[in-house]
Amino acid sequence: MSKGFLLVLSGPSGSGKGTVSEALMAKNHEVKFSTSVTTRKPRSMEVDGENYFFKTEEEFKDMVKNDELLEYAHVHTNYYGTPKEFVFQEIEKGEIVLLEIDVQGALQIKDKYKEAVFIFLLPPTMEELKHRIVSRGTESEKDIETRFANAFKELDFVGKYDYFVVNDKVDQAVKDIENIIAAEKLRVKRY
Ligand code: 5GP
Repeated sequence: MSKGFLLVLSGPSGSGKGTVSEALMAKNHEVKFSTSVTTRKPRSMEVDGENYFFKTEEEFKDMVKNDELLEYAHVHTNYYGTPKEFVFQEIEKGEIVLLEIDVQGALQIKDKYKEAVFIFLLPPTMEELKHRIVSRGTESEKDIETRFANAFKELDFVGKYDYFVVNDKVDQAVKDIENIIAAEKLRVKRY
């Protein structure tokens, strides 16, 4: 069995990371989602333990203190982090572990795990990005502005990633990521 690896997917709020990840995992069962911990409040359809493990700031800080997180960052207005245990366990089994994390977290992973694969998801245009954030209807006006402003900052980091994928049509974005996975499985050397 081939060795598992970390697949890091970043992209600004509204780039469609969640939708693309779900579609990717529905077709590719070897890709396992790493559920993050966050201090953000759940959105109406979100389920604790599925979308995120929702924590208080105190609980989050305890996890940091106990070295339970592979990486963590303050994103927009909350803390987010990747629990170590699940990631190590799945990699050991030969699975591909999908981390849907921001650029700060991705850079921490890059420092520690040279064998991770980094993909940056782009919206087709910035107008479309704003439209997606607004029409999602889950954030306050202030949060929308923060997320849109942060999108421009995040775009500066595309060059740190191995691949970029444009999410105009979800099906095509998924195909592009499948092609990246296929290529990465055949890679002779990871670093
Ligand atoms: P949202 O609040 O929209 O679910 O996520 C906000 C941002 O936090 C997104 O860019 C998302 O990728 C990022 N994020 C989610 N989980 C993690 C994590 O575990 N670590 C880091 N660094 N960022 C995360």
